[in-house]
Amino acid sequence: MEIKNEIISFIENYKTTDAFKQNIALKIEEVIKPIKCFHCFDQKQCWDYRGLRFKYDGKGEFYRKICPHCLAKPAENLWIEDCISTDLVGPFGIKLFRHDAHAGSERFKALETYVIKKYPELVKPCYTKSGVDSIHINEKTYNLEIEIGKIINTCTQALESYMGNLHSATKLIKNIKLNISCFDEESKKNTLLCEEITPNHFMYIVIKNNSSKKTKSRFGMYNYQKFYLDIQIDIFEIKTLNDSAHHLCNNIINETAEKHINEIMKLFESTT
Ligand SMILES: [Zn+2]
Repeated sequence: MEIKNEIISFIENYKTTDAFKQNIALKIEEVIKPIKCFHCFDQKQCWDYRGLRFKYDGKGEFYRKICPHCLAKPAENLWIEDCISTDLVGPFGIKLFRHDAHAGSERFKALETYVIKKYPELVKPCYTKSGVDSIHINEKTYNLEIEIGKIINTCTQALESYMGNLHSATKLIKNIKLNISCFDEESKKNTLLCEEITPNHFMYIVIKNNSSKKTKSRFGMYNYQKFYLDIQIDIFEIKTLNDSAHHLCNNIINETAEKHINEIMKLFESTT
């Protein structure tokens, strides 16, 4: 019970700090909710010393042990296996503790490590961002295809020099084209595209598209369209420096983050 209270006080403390720590605190809170034994976090395991007489038998000084606090009645044999180190995790992947250790602070740290490993996005993303190219088009045209062709050419050149070959840039080019060829209200929002070049190395593209079109008619005989292009394309190179940033970039690639896209953009814009 004291262990639990100590962990809860660490959680409450985290809740008063920055947004990332708050989310870690909430996740830990969720993890410990169903836990009954705070000695082992219901992993039913801990560790203990094997004793001096076994010290030099080569099997290690420690052993993995059944958590005595979980047992309904005392058992004779709690031995699971001999270990050369106490750097052990249980079946859930949470660090194991010495059978008689009661520190809540260490356990809180262990829970933090556990949730961060499981949910890397909980940590503040760390990355470097450098501008590759910035394209701004503000034009009226009757021939949309030609204008879009020009824009795509510029993007292709910029991407090619960073992505080595066009093959890896193809998907990005396709998505840029799709976005800037679109004139409905849906396209009038910020779009974020991302593609992995090599591990931890991403191309990242922000498209702000405010284009519109008007249908005009000549002599009331036939209709034609006039396009007002207002497009800003910014291309960046991102090198991710931790799992959280990697996770974020992958999310953009997989488009699972679509509803969080504005938050992600804010994050990318603000921390450079
Ligand atoms: Zn236990």
